Amino acid sequence: MTDSAGHTRRAIATILGSAVGDALGAPFEFGPEGAFSARFPLRGHGGEMCGGGGWDPGEATDDTQMAVLLGESLLERGGLELPDVFDRFRRWAAAGPKDIGLQTEAVLSSGDPWDLAAALHFQVNQRAAGNGALMRAATSAVYFAPHGREPTMRAARRIAALTHGDRAAWEGTAIFHELIRVALTGEDPLTALPDVLGAVHPGHRVRYATVLAPDWHPDRATEFNGAVWPCLGSAVWALRTTTSYEDAVRAAVDLGGDTDTVAAVTGGLAGAVYGPAAIPERWTEPLHVPLPGFGDRVLRSPQLVALAQGLARRNTN
Ligand SMILES: [Mg+2]
Repeated sequence: MTDSAGHTRRAIATILGSAVGDALGAPFEFGPEGAFSARFPLRGHGGEMCGGGGWDPGEATDDTQMAVLLGESLLERGGLELPDVFDRFRRWAAAGPKDIGLQTEAVLSSGDPWDLAAALHFQVNQRAAGNGALMRAATSAVYFAPHGREPTMRAARRIAALTHGDRAAWEGTAIFHELIRVALTGEDPLTALPDVLGAVHPGHRVRYATVLAPDWHPDRATEFNGAVWPCLGSAVWALRTTTSYEDAVRAAVDLGGDTDTVAAVTGGLAGAVYGPAAIPERWTEPLHVPLPGFGDRVLRSPQLVALAQGLARRNTN
């Protein structure tokens, strides 16, 4: 571990950066490529947190809402209690959030017990490699980072498996956790990629090596970016081909498709790399995270910062 102040700053930027990307991308979900830069051609001009498609300006979606519920469970329980995380997700899903992934909704509303619901869904449907576990991982990535590579990747897989029965989703979430862990130490996650791939389950390594390779481009995706592989690949591509937080999330939203999630994943990585000062204040100021099912709670940036500080502090001694 490098200096703990630097670690905490990067942890804050991971969680804030992911939430900002989510809210920035939400109005462009399922839109075409290039829609964001067509509307906001010049960086730094403001107005980008525009709302639309049912979202208020700065309103974060299910990605961040679930990440917050997960982070609060880790803090309040003092560790990973999967039944508690599942209960919070289920309570949230039952309250009718504005957006929820098809598969996540099917699993959480199945009435099946927490340790069987995702597996039973996968058994019947055979399709569960969506990006719905990857999208909510910023808080758990921060929490488990000080434990080192193996424990952080193991925790990522177990949390992903709550809603996603396909191991591809577990591995993608585990890679994200590990890239965040590396970035929080001040090292370059892109440099670490070959090494990280070595820790991926052998049955899934080739497919992730393809989408995380330096010459991969989102145009080469073989699935819609709502799937876990191109989603993670696109986020890493956006980080690799830009030099700032702002440009990374702009590039992510500009890809079109599942823009809120691709930008949430990109924003987590770029936040961890560039730190909180790189996230424009005009984006964190309107940011807010409603929590359906949990009273009238709406978290704003200061509360997200406090959550990040708690998650980073908990394990750094
Ligand atoms: Mg979303």
